[in-house]
Amino acid sequence: MELYSGQINNLIEELAALPGIGGKSAQRLAFHLINMPKEKVRRLADTMLEARENVRYCRECFTLTDKEVCPVCANAKRDHGTVMVVENTRDLAAYEKTGRYEGVYHVLHGAISPMLGIGPGDIRLKELMERLQGDVEEVIIATNSSLEGETTAMYIAKLIKPTGIKVTRIASGVPVGGDLEYIDEVTLLRALEGRVEL
Ligand code: ZN
Repeated sequence: MELYSGQINNLIEELAALPGIGGKSAQRLAFHLINMPKEKVRRLADTMLEARENVRYCRECFTLTDKEVCPVCANAKRDHGTVMVVENTRDLAAYEKTGRYEGVYHVLHGAISPMLGIGPGDIRLKELMERLQGDVEEVIIATNSSLEGETTAMYIAKLIKPTGIKVTRIASGVPVGGDLEYIDEVTLLRALEGRVEL
């Protein structure tokens, strides 16, 4: 027996398919949406569609942005000779929140994982190497301290070493397996300041 009408069920199912939303949360959200003023629901739906349609990768660092070049890359005051390599846009946001990092970023969109069949060609590594043809003095590898993050860091270090560009790795103060986005700003800054040359 169906507990709710087909449309309510559909809504609950769609919401439950989102990451981090279990069945109970999906139900709660579905009923919340149904009780919201129609105008608000429309605005939410439009915002989601607009973001989906307009958000793209920054031409320089490949973070998600709605401009051709993201605000960090477009900022002439940033140190464009220091490139921090992160796994995703959320990690970039975590470092930006500290307000203390003055360089630019490179977003890989993933990490190498032989177990999941994700190889070097599946992340934005080729693009990183292309960027390094320009004036880059240091590459800070800030991938996560998970097995995948460490594998990726080692791989990148090996690629860059022959170019003579300084390669550093953030200190391992970052909890093992911890996603950068969940780590507090003090820990992130300490990891950045304590980075070691590879
Ligand atoms: Zn950018």
